[in-house]
Amino acid sequence: MASTFIRRLEGKVAIITGAASGIGEATARLFCKHGAKVLIADIKDDLGEKVCKELGQSSASFVHCDVTEESDVETAVNTAVAKFGKLDIMHNNAGIVGIANPNILEIEKSEFEKVINVNLVGAFLGSKHAARVMIPNRCGNIITTASICSKIGGSASHAYTSSKHGVVGLTRNIAVELGKYGIRVNCVSPHLVATPLAKDFFKLDEEGCHGVYSVLKGVVLKPENVAEAALFLASDESNYVSGHNLLVDGGFTIVNPKFC
Ligand code: NAD
Repeated sequence: MASTFIRRLEGKVAIITGAASGIGEATARLFCKHGAKVLIADIKDDLGEKVCKELGQSSASFVHCDVTEESDVETAVNTAVAKFGKLDIMHNNAGIVGIANPNILEIEKSEFEKVINVNLVGAFLGSKHAARVMIPNRCGNIITTASICSKIGGSASHAYTSSKHGVVGLTRNIAVELGKYGIRVNCVSPHLVATPLAKDFFKLDEEGCHGVYSVLKGVVLKPENVAEAALFLASDESNYVSGHNLLVDGGFTIVNPKFC
């Protein structure tokens, strides 16, 4: 028997930052498939325009946006409203890892700040300008891509781990403030996914990106799996979920390696 495909974001308008590539791109594709209009906001104009073209002008649009620049973020939000009439979903997904170096004595302040600016300040600015247009409508949905590094230490970038812990705190605080306006605020936290970011940083191929301590042996996490988790948070299926950090980690953060 053929199953009916339900478009979970029919009529919704979303901005996804960092959607020219990787997890954001997969999420843009999935949100469009589910009926949303998506504004791709990224610094990689050629890649962003290409994804947009593939999704079709009626479903997707591109805006150049550096998430560390408040005027760019403000413009992205205003563009979504001007082009599609409103903003229902803000997905703060853009992120960088910075330089792999776990030696605190060698890390330059400027390098630490660079990662914090994109990952944490960028999520703050996205949330702020989304809230500006969501509060009057008394509804909305803000999602930030965190990471398993929001739960545990031990990554090769102190700045990355700090930024991802930071976005979870930001999410909880904003969720408390904005709940009274019907705005839900959550994080999605993937384990390693074979995107350009992870491949460059860890010099790993797709298989190598699979977490060795995942309890789901033989299952490789893909950008599409993370997109499905974001879809859940963006859709009405999660309408009593707020302030949550949804791990997509195959059990990595709960397992004692001795038993794996
Ligand atoms: P990616 O490199 O494929 O995509 C990141 C996108 O962000 C790129 O398109 C890039 O141009 C954009 N970007 C970078 N700086 C920006 C800025 N200042 N303004 C706007 N856009 C900017 O990487 P990805 O793996 O898809 O990463 C997406 C998110 O997922 C990030 O927040 C990352 O920290 C998080 N994450 C990734 C992994 C992983 O293993 N890939 C794991 C956990 C969390």
